This record gives sequence, structure tokens and C-alpha cells, in this order.
Amino acid sequence: MSIVIKNLCKSYKKNLVLDNLNLEVKEGTLFGLLGPNGAGKTTLLSILNFLIPKDSGTIEIAGKSLDTNQKEIKSICSIVPQSYAFYPKLTAYENLEFFASLYGLKNEALKKRINYCVEVCSLEKYINKQAHSFSGGLKRRLNIAIGLLNKPKILYLDEPTVGIDPQSRKYILEVIKEINKKEKTTIIYTSHYMEEVEYLCDEIAILDNSKIIFQENKEQIKNSEFGYKNLEEMFLSLTKQDLRD
Ligand code: ADP
Repeated sequence: MSIVIKNLCKSYKKNLVLDNLNLEVKEGTLFGLLGPNGAGKTTLLSILNFLIPKDSGTIEIAGKSLDTNQKEIKSICSIVPQSYAFYPKLTAYENLEFFASLYGLKNEALKKRINYCVEVCSLEKYINKQAHSFSGGLKRRLNIAIGLLNKPKILYLDEPTVGIDPQSRKYILEVIKEINKKEKTTIIYTSHYMEEVEYLCDEIAILDNSKIIFQENKEQIKNSEFGYKNLEEMFLSLTKQDLRD
């Protein structure tokens, strides 16, 4: 499903975080959203997922306004937040069962969907272990499995590979690719890791100084007239990145 954002504004008191932001994401895209710390990526995802209100502007999901179709849009979207969004004392299965029941899943449908999410995230061996005992990589995989329970048409992933080892990271990137390809899920992926975004995403945007300052697909970047060697060089050049808070 497509996402169209026009003139989106959001301030925290006097701090203008999103300033007339415009962004278009086509259906089925694996979309990378890059930006320095504090650029507003989490704020944008929070607005898209009804966690905080916008100040002004319009957002349409598959042509439907976010303002007037909250229930329907909530049912087809899912966010995997940066922080772990599960109960540490519950087992992986109990967590999945709990969140699946919040989506109204029951009996066979619940079991079937949990089994699918467990398989996609390779959690079989850990299903009856308490989540607090998991490694960082496993916790991230459980977070993603929970995010897949409602068969989202749009999946928002907020830095899902922070603080994990390279093997777990590689595995998670493959899982995300697979979800995008097999289920045709539109994915917005935020990350600081340029090489991840370069490897994973079809299209990339950079959020900086409260606006989208760049949006192109991978081919356009490769053939860029500026001749950047890689995404990192381009990112540093465009954001004129020096040390920020
Ligand atoms: P990013 O995800 O790109 O690192 P954030 O969306 O987390 O950026 O933050 C953007 C800006 O908004 C930062 O300056 C941050 O300090 C500020 N901010 C984020 N959340 C809040 C909040 N709940 N209250 C006040 N300021 C906030």
C-alpha cells in the first residue's frame, strides 16, 4: 500500500521537528529512511502509527486519510519500535499469544499465524523460554515476529538492528527482504547503517533539518551525476554532517 505525506508539521513546544515534510512511498517498496540523530525519524513513524498527533498536514495510506480511517489503517499497519515491545517475564510464545489476541485472533487462526511468525523469525528453539533470557539478536527477532502478527500491508521498522552482532544483523536483513518479496509488504526501514540501507532498500530518503532533503531509488543513486562512491559519502555530503547532539 502506498503512503503519501504532504506538508506534515510537528513541533515539541518550540522545537520544530518536521517542517512541511513531503514524502511518497509506492506500494511494495522497501524504503530506507536515513537521517542524523534527532532528525525526526522516530517522530515521523510515531505519527504514522497514531502514537503521537501531528500538528498539521495530510497523510494518506492507499488513498485513505489517516485522520478519518484510524481503525482500518491501524489494522493493516504495524510498527517494530526501537525499544523492545514485549513482556520480559513471559515466554516468546506467551508474548505472541498475548499480542495476537489483541488483534482479535483466536483458536486455529491464532496458532497458525503465530507458527508463521515463529518460522519467519526462526524462533522455534526459544519459543518456551522467557524473553528476558534472550540475546540482543533474539530479542530483535521476537520484536519483529510480534510486528508481523496482524499480517501488515505496511511495516515500519525503527532501527531494528541496533546493538546486535553481525550474524544476527545479517539474518534480520534477510528476514526483512523476504517479508517484502513474499508478502509484498511495503516497508519503511530507518537506520544509521548506510551499508544496510544500501544493501536492503529499493528507494532511499534522507531526513535532515526537519525536511526530506533527498529521495531517489537505488539506480538513480548509482548513476548520480555527482558520482558518489557510496551512500555514506553521499549522506555525509548532503547532510554536511559534523558532530551533532
Ligand atoms: P530520530 O529518530 O531521527 O533520532 P526523533 O524523532 O527521536 O529523531 O527526535 C527528533 C527531535 O525531537 C529531537 O530533537 C528530540 O529531542 C525531539 N523529541 C523527540 N521526542 C520528544 C518528546 N517526546 N518531547 C520533546 N522532544 C522530543
